[in-house]
Amino acid sequence: MKIRVSIFKFSFFGFCLPYFCATTIEINQKSLLVVIVKEKYSLSSHNARFDTEQKCHDYLIQVRWNGRPQCPDCGNDHMNYFLTTRNIYKCSECYKQFSVTQGTIFHMSKISLMKWFLAIYLFTTAKRGISSIQFAKLLGVQQRTAWYILQRLREALKEENEVILSGIVEVDETFVAPKLHRDNRLQAAKWKHDKEQIRLHGYSAAQRERMGIKKVRGRKKGETNEMIQQRKLESGKYKKTIHTPFEKGTVVFGMIERGGILVMKKIGTNIKKVTTASVLPLLIKHISKNSVVITDEHRAYQPVSKFFTHYSINHRSEYVNGDIHTNTIENAQKHLKKMIDSTYFHISYHHADGYINEYTYRWNRRERSERAIFEDFFPVTVGRKLIYKDLKKRKDMDLAA
Ligand SMILES: [Zn+2]
Repeated sequence: MKIRVSIFKFSFFGFCLPYFCATTIEINQKSLLVVIVKEKYSLSSHNARFDTEQKCHDYLIQVRWNGRPQCPDCGNDHMNYFLTTRNIYKCSECYKQFSVTQGTIFHMSKISLMKWFLAIYLFTTAKRGISSIQFAKLLGVQQRTAWYILQRLREALKEENEVILSGIVEVDETFVAPKLHRDNRLQAAKWKHDKEQIRLHGYSAAQRERMGIKKVRGRKKGETNEMIQQRKLESGKYKKTIHTPFEKGTVVFGMIERGGILVMKKIGTNIKKVTTASVLPLLIKHISKNSVVITDEHRAYQPVSKFFTHYSINHRSEYVNGDIHTNTIENAQKHLKKMIDSTYFHISYHHADGYINEYTYRWNRRERSERAIFEDFFPVTVGRKLIYKDLKKRKDMDLAA
């Protein structure tokens, strides 16, 4: 936006000569908008907002009890005593003591509320997540403490994916796993090439017999493993199975409402074992009736048409057919994979839920301001508790299942 300001000046040297002096003032429209309409909630403004322990404490009281401390036992919020020396409240009815962090993820934590608030700010606004080592450096705590804080924050979001979608819902599954080792990738590529060569130019076993070449069985004298492998490859009978490390991966099932929210769930460790039994209960649970479900041509989705209006797109021939496509969900899946590849490198199956919840929390609020994303977190901190013992148990439970 340019504003042209004209200033008339009159010179008085013998005759009146109005001359024209023009000045242009450039105002960047974008920055003006940011300043006036959308206040930026940066790290420095966050630190200025919560620069004392008392401010964090007051904010929690405001968020949790709307400014009136309420006894968790009897629900009384009238004239409760405040014990300043211990920073806790005493109920005026039942005389029980309670604190503002009681029953929240901050309960019994030795870490100050200021650090917790900073942790929530960093956790909710980091686009592709934040690793526990980086977190430890920023907060000034040990790595294991940082990891435990992160796990507690993820625990707070456990209800994040418990929503019901409607309208047009795109559905797809994906496999999140670390990349194969470079050696394995090269070996796999070599096998693939050899197989292709034999298919194109080699002889089948029947042809070899017709040509009078005897079948060779067993190991010849002085033959190495490589030579046997080569001979088997040449005979065209050798089928090498490529061992992908599927047991280290997680199958993530995603559902997204067009122009709406995203729901993701883990459904197993092997992408080849995705069946109707693993997929359909989730669809029925998370998608309302009279919705339109769009999938690809995976055979696990064949019975979906009994429950919903179902369209599928055949990815062998086309990716988009009018409004029928699964590009929205594939976009969301790609971002999940990018987050895990770039920040976490590998997530174990039994902790995968936490990472998925963290991702969907940010994804569903990606168009909102940083301040809103930060403040949205506080209602979910109440009524969640995570003890380290339970966290460790999770692995055993998943292994048994
Ligand atoms: Zn009470």
